Amino acid sequence: MKIIDILEEKKRGFSFEFFPPKTSKAKESFKKTVQILKRYKPLYVSMTYGASGSSQEYTKEATYLLLSVKEFTVIPHLTCVGATAFSIRKLLDEYKLKGIENIMALRGDPPKDKQFDFKKTQFPYAKDLVRFIKKNYNFCIGVALYPEGHIEEPSFDRHLQHMKQKIDAGADFAVTQMFFDNSYFYSFLEKAKKAGISIPILPGILPLYNILKAKEFCLACKATIPKKIQEKMSSFLDKPEEMEKIGIDFTIKQCKDLIEKGYQRIHFFTLNRPRVMVKLLDALKNF
Ligand code: FAD
Repeated sequence: MKIIDILEEKKRGFSFEFFPPKTSKAKESFKKTVQILKRYKPLYVSMTYGASGSSQEYTKEATYLLLSVKEFTVIPHLTCVGATAFSIRKLLDEYKLKGIENIMALRGDPPKDKQFDFKKTQFPYAKDLVRFIKKNYNFCIGVALYPEGHIEEPSFDRHLQHMKQKIDAGADFAVTQMFFDNSYFYSFLEKAKKAGISIPILPGILPLYNILKAKEFCLACKATIPKKIQEKMSSFLDKPEEMEKIGIDFTIKQCKDLIEKGYQRIHFFTLNRPRVMVKLLDALKNF
C-alpha cells in the first residue's frame, strides 16, 4: 500500500525506522526486534540506506526481510550518493517487481573518506532524485525536512525554499530530522505552511536513552538537545540504567505533548533497539 493512502486513512499511529544489520549476529537480533515491534502495528516501517557500496546491499537485504512480514508496509531509503540514472533504475525496477510501492528519496551525506562533490553527479540534490522517480515510476515518495535547518545551509529561509522545491518536484509526504524541543517543530510547521508546503509531515523522534550517543548524532545535524535534560542525563553517566530512564521519560513527555497538540502520527528512529522502544510505546499506548 502507498504510505500517502495510509496517512489519508489513519490519523493516529507510529512508524518505525530501522538501519540494516550487517553481521550474522546483528541479523538474528534484528529478526527478533522486528517480531517484537510488529505487535505495535506500525503505520509503516522504513529501512535506511548506507553511504556506499556493500552497505547498500545490506539495505536491500533488510528491506526484503521487512517485506516478508505481511503486516508491514515498507519504505526503503535511497540516496544520491554514487547514484546514476542506470543504477537507480536497476534498483527501482527490482523493488517494483518485489511489490514495493514507497521510496524515501534523500540526497545522503558525502562519503567521509573521499573528495566528493554532489554538484558533479547526476543527482546533486534530493529534489533531482524525487523528480527522476516521479517521472519514471509510480512510487509514493517520502522526503526529509529539517525543523532547525540543515547543517550545510546557514540561511533557514533559503533552506526552506530548497525544501519547497523538493516537495514541488513530487514528494508525497515528509519525515523530519530528529528534534528534542517541540517548539522548533511547531514553529517550523507554521513557516512551512506559509511557504506553501501542504503534504503530511511526520515528526521524527529519536528516543533519548544515552546522552553521549544523542550528542554524537546531533554533531552531524542541526538538532538542539535542551540544556536541562543534557545536564540531568549527564549527571548519571556512571548509572546507565538511571540515565536511560530519565531519557525515556523525557521522550514520553515529548511525544505526549505532540499527541496532545494534534500531531498523532510519530516516526521513531528506533536504532534497532526494541527494549527502549517497548518502554516508550507501552507508555504511549493508552494516551
Ligand atoms: P537535500 O534536500 O538535497 O538538501 C541537502 C542540502 O542542499 C541542504 O542544505 C539544502 O538546503 C541544499 N540544497 C537543496 N537544493 C539546493 C539548491 N537548489 N541550491 C543550493 N542548495 C540546495 N542519509 C543517508 O545516507 N541514508 C538514509 O537512509 C538517511 N535517512 C534519513 C532519514 C531522515 C528522516 C532524515 C531527516 C535524514 C536522513 N538521512 C539519511 C540524512 C540525509 O541524507 C542528510 O541530512 C543529507 O545531508 C541531506 O539530505 P536531503 O535529502 O535532505 O538533501
